[in-house]
Amino acid sequence: MANMPSLSHSTYSRPPASSAKIAATSLAELPLFEKAKRARGLEAGKVVLARIDLNVPLASHSLEQRQAAIAEPLSLARIDAVIPLIEQVSPQPLILCSHLGRPMGERREELSLQRLLPHLERRWQREVIFLGDSQKSGALDQATLARLGAGSTRRAGGEKTAEKTAEKTAEKKAIGLFENLRFHKGEEQDSIEFAANLAAKAELFVNDAFSVCHRAHASTSAITTLLPSYVGCSLEGELERLLPLLELGEQKNIALLGGAKVSTKIMLLRSLLKRCSALVLGGNMANCMLAVKGRLGNMLENKNLANSFANSFSQNELQIARELEADAERQKNCEIILPSDAALAPKNINADGSFDPSSSPEIVEVERASRALWDIGPKSCLAIESLLAKTAQQQAGTRVIVNGPLGVFERPPYDASSLRVLRFLAKMSRHGKLISICGGGDTIAALERAGVAEDFTHISLGGGAFLELLTEREMPALRALRLCKERMQLA
Ligand code: ADP
Ligand code: MG
Repeated sequence: MANMPSLSHSTYSRPPASSAKIAATSLAELPLFEKAKRARGLEAGKVVLARIDLNVPLASHSLEQRQAAIAEPLSLARIDAVIPLIEQVSPQPLILCSHLGRPMGERREELSLQRLLPHLERRWQREVIFLGDSQKSGALDQATLARLGAGSTRRAGGEKTAEKTAEKTAEKKAIGLFENLRFHKGEEQDSIEFAANLAAKAELFVNDAFSVCHRAHASTSAITTLLPSYVGCSLEGELERLLPLLELGEQKNIALLGGAKVSTKIMLLRSLLKRCSALVLGGNMANCMLAVKGRLGNMLENKNLANSFANSFSQNELQIARELEADAERQKNCEIILPSDAALAPKNINADGSFDPSSSPEIVEVERASRALWDIGPKSCLAIESLLAKTAQQQAGTRVIVNGPLGVFERPPYDASSLRVLRFLAKMSRHGKLISICGGGDTIAALERAGVAEDFTHISLGGGAFLELLTEREMPALRALRLCKERMQLA
């Protein structure tokens, strides 16, 4: 459909991971839809295919919930995040595509995007036409295109009914939506054949899904070799706010990292070390560092305890933690700050994992830890708050990057430090004393629990992508867009 240089499927080369450039792409290198719209006034009639993120958390505990014709999203944030794109593309005809959950290349009814339709129509205030499987070959039929508003700006060839249809659709344009892309293996395999079937339905491609930009999938990578491809407004917004965090030699950044995924996140720490004045650790991340230093439980009689703490982490994690410590000592620009006190896990945990939530947790110095540490203690919270206040006062525009809760926040009272520090940050942000940026599924859940999401400067909708971006490797989807711009000399 699009007027593209022909590209046979066999000439498509997937971006080799090893040759990725060691720097994040800058906005200037990317084809921005907004800029192109202004510069070239992208023909009003051109059909836009947009990759968005409708991977919303669903209530799926019971069979009844999974089998219901209409799914119940636990958060509408990702649905609402599409509204700016709908406005940006309008009045051009718009077709959306996304994944939902992990169907692993097979059709799974409970992960059908059709189950979200009533929510989408209500939140977007638009009719949404469910287009079904994106892999049906060929273009969309004329009737569907007309309902999307395609061709409504052109003359309807004098045919009365067609004219009427065009008039009608011009006033109330529907939006198209394809079925869950991951029902086919081709999506995650970055298959050019899969992308070609998608591309046949539109004339332009817009990527507006920051949260999948760290994946080379057909709808983020291969598609950009088939259609002129652009960055949508939400993706542009995320990059605009996140890319400055990568400036090297930046002493204004503080990272506050917690959570449980030590093995994936510990790599991130090394790259953050270069661009932060302080790395504040909590959660299991801090426990790993403390274990490496032999500090956990080392003042207790039981000499084996310190070893057993260390044994709860993999050799790989401990090794990376050791290297991190050595790096920090060598570089001298960034201090690693570890908790000095902590809340011990409950003494009595029932067989089903429950415990008495009314009893207050035992707070001890980390050297006196005799059980797992589930939260950082009040002294550590105070130290973090003082550091944040002091840095913000000394350095105007201090940025605080938050990922991972400081404790087992889902299990009160072990949410104490996570909520306390988030509220402190929110207050500083509200008063314009610092810039607060957070990302990560559980981090956002903790933020919502703390009731201060509104006060944060920027909440990234990408969890994994947020972290990948901070590690300064160029993300595959951004690389694909950058190359498309170079190849096609897009605006
Ligand atoms: P995000 O989703 O924001 O990236 P993670 O998934 O890495 O964050 O971490 C969140 C998880 O970390 C939560 O389930 C929380 O219970 C867990 N966690 C935090 N502190 C600890 C701790 N000290 N010990 C064990 N788990 C922890
Ligand atoms: Mg998580």
